[in-house]
Amino acid sequence: MSPLVSIEHISHSFGSSRALDDVSLSLPPDSYTVLLGPSGSGKTTLLSILGGFLGPEQGRVLIKGQDCTAMAPAKRPTATVFQDYALFPHMSIGANVGFGLRMKGVAKAERDARASAMLDVVGLAASFERKPHQLSGGQRQRVALARALIVEPAVLLLDEPLGALDLKLRRQMQDELKAIQKRVGTAFIHVTHDQEEAMALADHVVVMNHGRIEDQGAPERVYARPATRFTATFMGESTILSGTTANGMIDTPLGRFPAASDASHVAIRPEHVSLGGAIAAEVTDVVYQGAFKRVTARANGVDLLARLPAETRVLQGERMMLSIDAPHVIVLKD
Ligand code: ATP
Repeated sequence: MSPLVSIEHISHSFGSSRALDDVSLSLPPDSYTVLLGPSGSGKTTLLSILGGFLGPEQGRVLIKGQDCTAMAPAKRPTATVFQDYALFPHMSIGANVGFGLRMKGVAKAERDARASAMLDVVGLAASFERKPHQLSGGQRQRVALARALIVEPAVLLLDEPLGALDLKLRRQMQDELKAIQKRVGTAFIHVTHDQEEAMALADHVVVMNHGRIEDQGAPERVYARPATRFTATFMGESTILSGTTANGMIDTPLGRFPAASDASHVAIRPEHVSLGGAIAAEVTDVVYQGAFKRVTARANGVDLLARLPAETRVLQGERMMLSIDAPHVIVLKD
């Protein structure tokens, strides 16, 4: 399938600070892509370049095969949803949603009908006549989404769209966003620094660090087989061990594991550490998290993170024996 969006060798600096460094990315139609990375990694800069709010110093953006690099935001087949919603407070919800059509010269009767239909898609059919201040934060977010989708963009850009919502509403809106994206079939590109949000939403996750792409792919693959040490720690938790390789194995302070000769580290996910085994450890921290206990244990000079069943009786300072599920150990080259 030919890509809907092709980002080719994009670089951009602000003064002496390199915000994006030779970023290339291809995204298929109908995909839900999440740009994930810590603060300052370049996510918003990349989204702004996609939306046309910023021209890159180097590189090209192609959407549906057309070079959009120098095209104004309104001329591109994109629409953007910002974190602060940016609704017009004096306009009704219906008028807010229909605003993009008004700008395109669509007559009132048609834009009202289409705004109504779009409000139905986001579950707010009954709110057409209301004003933004009469809605909750989650509802306002859905209005912002409807307003962006009504112009039928090929790509919808979302910049931390759930950042202003509390955790419960955020999780609920994640489910809704994903369902709406499947319903309308538009490609979504969504910026967040929340790795749980990335895993919940993405068909394709792009992990960014210092203006570069560290890893990208299906979230299941990126979590289970991260390409770099940064990804292994940013997308979920891990214990990272350094080691030396010989004869197809890597030797670490907590055991030997199969590895290619260029391996330098392993990452161990906490759910792959179990009670019982040959690793003698002293518990240094226990955090009860409802569904499980997050335990840190010192073993052979290393702090090993384990996710143990919630009913495990374990106290700080106790000694315990642990094992590592070798087939799930992640071998890293950097
Ligand atoms: P956050 O999650 O905090 O929004 P981000 O990953 O979106 O971060 P960007 O906002 O793209 O990161 O910023 C990337 C780098 O570029 C940072 O070092 C930032 O300080 C710098 N930067 C971004 N915008 C500007 C600007 N307008 N002027 C100067 N520096 C900027």
